[in-house]
Amino acid sequence: MSEPIYKRIVLKLSGEALAGDKDFGINPLTIQKICQEIKDVYELGIEIAIVVGGGNIWRGQTGSEMGMERAQADYMGMIATIMNGLALQDSLENAGVPTRVQTSIEMKEVAEQYIRRRAIRHLEKGRVVIFAGGTGNPYFSTDTTAALRAAEIKADVIMMAKNNVDGVYSADPMKDDAAVKYDKLTYLDIINQSLGVMDTTASTLSMDNDIPLLVFKLNEKGNIKRAVLGEAIGTTVKGKTNE
Ligand code: UDP
Repeated sequence: MSEPIYKRIVLKLSGEALAGDKDFGINPLTIQKICQEIKDVYELGIEIAIVVGGGNIWRGQTGSEMGMERAQADYMGMIATIMNGLALQDSLENAGVPTRVQTSIEMKEVAEQYIRRRAIRHLEKGRVVIFAGGTGNPYFSTDTTAALRAAEIKADVIMMAKNNVDGVYSADPMKDDAAVKYDKLTYLDIINQSLGVMDTTASTLSMDNDIPLLVFKLNEKGNIKRAVLGEAIGTTVKGKTNE
């Protein structure tokens, strides 16, 4: 059997991934499926940190476009990610995977506060750590959170699991038949070509810290494990060169 090519990963799950086919809210059955896949990867013995988004519940930008103060709307988005984090924790623990949720906005009745060294300790002890609450700051995204936490815990890779798309394309493959899929890219490509994989803040942070990114399709059974075992699925994004 092949061996995992990473020791410690940050898995970025968007809020959308937890919503199932309704695109909104939390679908426990969808989450169960994802958690089963995470369990399969966990059983390979690698350390897993999860950064969870909140777009299935609330996005700050939507609120701001409707007249809310942006920072206020963003705090609501961060709280949405904590709801998702708790849902993931519930499902992973039901599947027999030990977890800790750490939040960047203190919520001590339901989860631990984010403490970098403690997060690393949990990982070393074989617990999946779920980072919820984003960076704790408005005007940022959970993609940036993934880049930040990956740098802080010295993860080998950010694995960005996407809904319905198996990598990075030159254009939206749902709308443009001529869109081509890239196997390899650099962060500069993403920034210069506005490829919309992750926002610019997240891209520059990952580039500056030399953290590779793997973009792949979530809703294809076994894909997280395939990616961890080094199968060439999806698109890899690296620092200044990608050779
Ligand atoms: N958010 C924020 N700061 C952060 C992370 C998230 O303000 O560090 C807010 C922001 O309003 C965002 C929402 O939380 O729209 C949900 O996060 P995101 O849009 O990144 O979730 P995803 O698209 O991954 O579901």
